[in-house]
Amino acid sequence: MIIAVDGPSGAGKGTISRAIAQHFSLKHIDTGLYYRAIAYKAILEGIDLKHEDVLVQLVDHITTDDFLLPVLRAETIGNAASKIAVIPIVREQITRRIHRFCQEIALPYKGVVLDGRDIGTVVCPNATVKIFVTANPDVRANRRSMELKILTQQNSNDILNQINQRDERDQRRIVSPLSPASDAIFLDTSELSSLESCNCAINIVLNYLSTNSGLVQVTSY
Ligand code: C5P
Repeated sequence: MIIAVDGPSGAGKGTISRAIAQHFSLKHIDTGLYYRAIAYKAILEGIDLKHEDVLVQLVDHITTDDFLLPVLRAETIGNAASKIAVIPIVREQITRRIHRFCQEIALPYKGVVLDGRDIGTVVCPNATVKIFVTANPDVRANRRSMELKILTQQNSNDILNQINQRDERDQRRIVSPLSPASDAIFLDTSELSSLESCNCAINIVLNYLSTNSGLVQVTSY
Protein backbone atom coordinates (compact mmCIF):
# COMPACT_ATOMS: atom_id res chain seq x y z
CA MET A 1 0.00 0.00 0.00
CA ILE A 2 1.37 3.41 -0.93
CA ILE A 3 -0.21 6.55 0.48
CA ALA A 4 0.87 9.86 -1.06
CA VAL A 5 0.44 12.99 1.06
CA ASP A 6 1.32 16.28 -0.63
CA GLY A 7 0.76 19.92 0.19
CA PRO A 8 2.42 23.22 1.12
CA SER A 9 4.37 23.83 4.33
CA GLY A 10 2.34 24.09 7.52
CA ALA A 11 -0.75 22.36 6.08
CA GLY A 12 -0.28 19.41 8.44
CA LYS A 13 1.22 16.78 6.09
CA GLY A 14 3.77 15.49 8.59
CA THR A 15 1.35 14.97 11.48
CA ILE A 16 -1.25 13.43 9.18
CA SER A 17 1.29 11.12 7.52
CA ARG A 18 2.61 9.88 10.86
CA ALA A 19 -0.96 9.17 12.03
CA ILE A 20 -1.82 7.24 8.85
CA ALA A 21 1.44 5.29 9.13
CA GLN A 22 0.75 4.34 12.72
CA HIS A 23 -2.87 3.40 12.08
CA PHE A 24 -2.16 1.13 9.08
CA SER A 25 1.31 -0.17 10.13
CA LEU A 26 3.06 1.62 7.29
CA LYS A 27 6.54 3.12 7.15
CA HIS A 28 6.49 6.93 7.02
CA ILE A 29 8.98 8.66 4.73
CA ASP A 30 9.30 12.43 5.04
CA THR A 31 10.78 13.16 1.61
CA GLY A 32 11.49 16.81 2.50
CA LEU A 33 14.32 15.50 4.69
CA TYR A 34 16.28 14.45 1.59
CA TYR A 35 16.15 18.01 0.25
CA ARG A 36 16.89 19.48 3.68
CA ALA A 37 19.85 17.14 4.35
CA ILE A 38 21.47 17.99 1.01
CA ALA A 39 20.91 21.71 1.53
CA TYR A 40 22.48 21.49 4.99
CA LYS A 41 25.50 19.55 3.73
CA ALA A 42 25.97 22.02 0.90
CA ILE A 43 25.90 24.98 3.30
CA LEU A 44 28.34 23.26 5.68
CA GLU A 45 30.74 22.55 2.86
CA GLY A 46 30.40 26.02 1.33
CA ILE A 47 28.89 24.69 -1.91
CA ASP A 48 26.97 27.16 -4.07
CA LEU A 49 23.28 26.14 -4.10
CA LYS A 50 23.25 26.52 -7.89
CA HIS A 51 26.23 24.20 -8.43
CA GLU A 52 24.18 21.26 -9.75
CA ASP A 53 27.03 18.87 -10.56
CA VAL A 54 28.37 19.00 -7.01
CA LEU A 55 24.92 18.98 -5.38
CA VAL A 56 23.87 15.87 -7.27
CA GLN A 57 26.89 14.02 -5.89
CA LEU A 58 25.79 14.84 -2.35
CA VAL A 59 22.58 12.86 -2.85
CA ASP A 60 24.43 9.54 -2.63
CA HIS A 61 26.33 10.63 0.45
CA ILE A 62 23.43 11.39 2.73
CA THR A 63 22.25 8.68 5.08
CA THR A 64 19.08 8.30 7.12
CA ASP A 65 21.20 9.21 10.18
CA ASP A 66 21.57 12.70 8.69
CA PHE A 67 17.77 13.05 8.93
CA LEU A 68 18.02 13.04 12.72
CA LEU A 69 19.86 16.38 12.92
CA PRO A 70 17.56 18.92 14.66
CA VAL A 71 19.09 21.76 12.62
CA LEU A 72 17.33 20.39 9.50
CA ARG A 73 14.03 21.70 10.90
CA ALA A 74 15.17 25.35 10.76
CA GLU A 75 13.38 27.48 8.20
CA THR A 76 16.74 28.68 6.79
CA ILE A 77 17.41 25.04 5.83
CA GLY A 78 13.84 24.61 4.48
CA ASN A 79 14.39 27.68 2.36
CA ALA A 80 17.77 26.46 1.08
CA ALA A 81 16.13 23.06 0.38
CA SER A 82 13.55 24.72 -1.86
CA LYS A 83 16.38 26.40 -3.80
CA ILE A 84 18.04 23.10 -4.63
CA ALA A 85 14.61 21.51 -5.25
CA VAL A 86 14.31 23.50 -8.50
CA ILE A 87 17.25 21.57 -10.03
CA PRO A 88 15.95 18.72 -12.24
CA ILE A 89 18.97 16.37 -11.89
CA VAL A 90 18.94 16.72 -8.11
CA ARG A 91 15.22 15.89 -8.06
CA GLU A 92 15.73 12.86 -10.31
CA GLN A 93 18.49 11.53 -8.10
CA ILE A 94 16.48 12.06 -4.91
CA THR A 95 13.44 10.37 -6.48
CA ARG A 96 15.65 7.38 -7.34
CA ARG A 97 16.85 7.18 -3.74
CA ILE A 98 13.30 7.38 -2.41
CA HIS A 99 12.23 4.54 -4.74
CA ARG A 100 15.18 2.44 -3.59
CA PHE A 101 14.32 3.11 0.06
CA CYS A 102 10.68 2.09 -0.54
CA GLN A 103 11.82 -1.19 -2.09
CA GLU A 104 14.09 -1.98 0.84
CA ILE A 105 11.38 -1.57 3.47
CA ALA A 106 10.76 -4.90 5.11
CA LEU A 107 8.24 -6.44 7.49
CA PRO A 108 6.45 -5.54 9.76
CA TYR A 109 5.49 -2.65 7.48
CA LYS A 110 2.64 -3.23 5.04
CA GLY A 111 3.63 -0.36 2.82
CA VAL A 112 4.61 3.29 2.94
CA VAL A 113 3.24 6.77 3.52
CA LEU A 114 5.30 9.37 1.72
CA ASP A 115 4.86 13.05 2.32
CA GLY A 116 6.21 15.82 0.13
CA ARG A 117 5.31 18.03 -2.81
CA ASP A 118 5.41 15.74 -5.84
CA ILE A 119 4.56 12.31 -4.42
CA GLY A 120 1.17 11.87 -6.13
CA THR A 121 2.32 13.47 -9.37
CA VAL A 122 5.90 12.24 -9.90
CA VAL A 123 7.37 9.99 -7.19
CA CYS A 124 4.39 7.58 -6.89
CA PRO A 125 1.86 8.35 -9.64
CA ASN A 126 0.29 4.92 -8.98
CA ALA A 127 -0.13 5.43 -5.23
CA THR A 128 -3.07 3.59 -3.66
CA VAL A 129 -4.50 6.80 -2.16
CA LYS A 130 -3.41 10.39 -2.78
CA ILE A 131 -4.24 13.12 -0.31
CA PHE A 132 -3.55 16.80 -0.95
CA VAL A 133 -3.49 18.65 2.36
CA THR A 134 -4.20 22.37 2.33
CA ALA A 135 -4.94 25.14 4.83
CA ASN A 136 -5.35 28.86 4.32
CA PRO A 137 -2.04 30.81 4.26
CA ASP A 138 -2.56 32.56 7.62
CA VAL A 139 -3.22 29.31 9.42
CA ARG A 140 -0.21 27.63 7.80
CA ALA A 141 2.09 30.53 8.61
CA ASN A 142 0.92 30.58 12.24
CA ARG A 143 1.44 26.86 12.67
CA ARG A 144 4.93 26.93 11.19
CA SER A 145 6.00 29.99 13.09
CA MET A 146 4.78 28.54 16.40
CA GLU A 147 6.67 25.33 15.70
CA LEU A 148 9.83 27.13 14.63
CA LYS A 149 9.82 29.80 17.32
CA ILE A 150 10.08 27.09 19.93
CA LEU A 151 12.83 25.33 18.01
CA THR A 152 14.95 28.21 16.80
CA GLN A 153 13.88 31.37 18.67
CA GLN A 154 13.73 33.03 15.24
CA ASN A 155 11.75 36.23 14.83
CA SER A 156 8.24 35.36 13.56
CA ASN A 157 8.26 37.97 10.77
CA ASP A 158 11.45 36.48 9.37
CA ILE A 159 9.87 33.05 9.51
CA LEU A 160 6.73 34.20 7.72
CA ASN A 161 8.72 35.84 4.93
CA GLN A 162 10.81 32.74 4.42
CA ILE A 163 7.77 30.43 4.37
CA ASN A 164 6.01 32.61 1.81
CA GLN A 165 9.08 32.73 -0.44
CA ARG A 166 9.48 28.98 -0.17
CA ASP A 167 5.86 28.17 -1.02
CA GLU A 168 5.99 30.47 -4.01
CA ARG A 169 9.21 28.88 -5.24
CA ASP A 170 7.73 25.38 -4.78
CA GLN A 171 4.60 26.30 -6.75
CA ARG A 172 6.35 28.13 -9.56
CA ARG A 173 9.25 25.83 -10.33
CA ILE A 174 9.18 24.28 -13.78
CA VAL A 175 9.99 20.69 -12.78
CA SER A 176 7.59 18.86 -10.42
CA PRO A 177 5.95 21.96 -8.94
CA LEU A 178 3.77 21.62 -5.87
CA SER A 179 0.38 20.77 -7.36
CA PRO A 180 -2.34 18.23 -6.63
CA ALA A 181 -2.52 15.06 -8.71
CA SER A 182 -5.72 14.92 -10.77
CA ASP A 183 -6.91 11.96 -8.66
CA ALA A 184 -5.95 13.42 -5.27
CA ILE A 185 -8.49 13.88 -2.48
CA PHE A 186 -8.32 17.37 -0.93
CA LEU A 187 -8.20 17.75 2.82
CA ASP A 188 -8.48 21.34 4.09
CA THR A 189 -7.23 21.47 7.68
CA SER A 190 -7.78 25.24 8.24
CA GLU A 191 -10.63 24.70 10.68
CA LEU A 192 -9.54 21.35 12.07
CA SER A 193 -7.52 20.43 15.13
CA SER A 194 -4.56 18.16 14.67
CA LEU A 195 -6.57 15.17 15.91
CA GLU A 196 -9.51 15.97 13.62
CA SER A 197 -7.17 16.32 10.63
CA CYS A 198 -5.56 12.93 11.37
CA ASN A 199 -8.95 11.25 11.80
CA CYS A 200 -10.18 12.71 8.52
CA ALA A 201 -7.11 11.44 6.69
CA ILE A 202 -7.44 7.97 8.23
CA ASN A 203 -11.10 7.94 7.18
CA ILE A 204 -10.12 8.82 3.61
CA VAL A 205 -7.88 5.75 3.51
CA LEU A 206 -10.45 3.54 5.27
CA ASN A 207 -13.08 4.68 2.82
CA TYR A 208 -10.87 3.81 -0.09
CA LEU A 209 -10.14 0.38 1.37
CA SER A 210 -13.79 -0.39 2.14
CA THR A 211 -14.93 0.81 -1.29
CA ASN A 212 -12.32 -1.32 -2.98
CA SER A 213 -12.98 -4.41 -0.94
CA GLY A 214 -16.69 -4.37 -1.77
CA LEU A 215 -17.79 -3.11 1.67
CA VAL A 216 -20.34 -0.30 1.93
CA GLN A 217 -18.89 3.23 2.05
CA VAL A 218 -20.03 4.88 5.27
CA THR A 219 -17.78 7.85 6.02
CA SER A 220 -18.14 11.40 4.78
CA TYR A 221 -15.81 14.36 5.40
O1 C5P B 1 8.48 19.18 3.46
P1 C5P B 1 9.62 20.09 3.83
O2 C5P B 1 9.17 21.43 4.30
O3 C5P B 1 10.58 19.45 4.76
O4 C5P B 1 10.41 20.31 2.45
C1 C5P B 1 11.47 21.22 2.32
C2 C5P B 1 11.56 21.64 0.86
O5 C5P B 1 11.98 20.51 0.08
C3 C5P B 1 10.23 22.08 0.24
O6 C5P B 1 9.96 23.45 0.44
C4 C5P B 1 10.43 21.74 -1.23
O7 C5P B 1 11.11 22.77 -1.91
C5 C5P B 1 11.36 20.52 -1.19
N1 C5P B 1 10.63 19.28 -1.44
C6 C5P B 1 10.31 18.96 -2.73
N2 C5P B 1 9.73 17.77 -3.01
C7 C5P B 1 9.42 16.92 -2.03
C8 C5P B 1 9.70 17.24 -0.69
C9 C5P B 1 10.30 18.45 -0.42
O8 C5P B 1 10.57 19.74 -3.64
N3 C5P B 1 8.86 15.74 -2.35
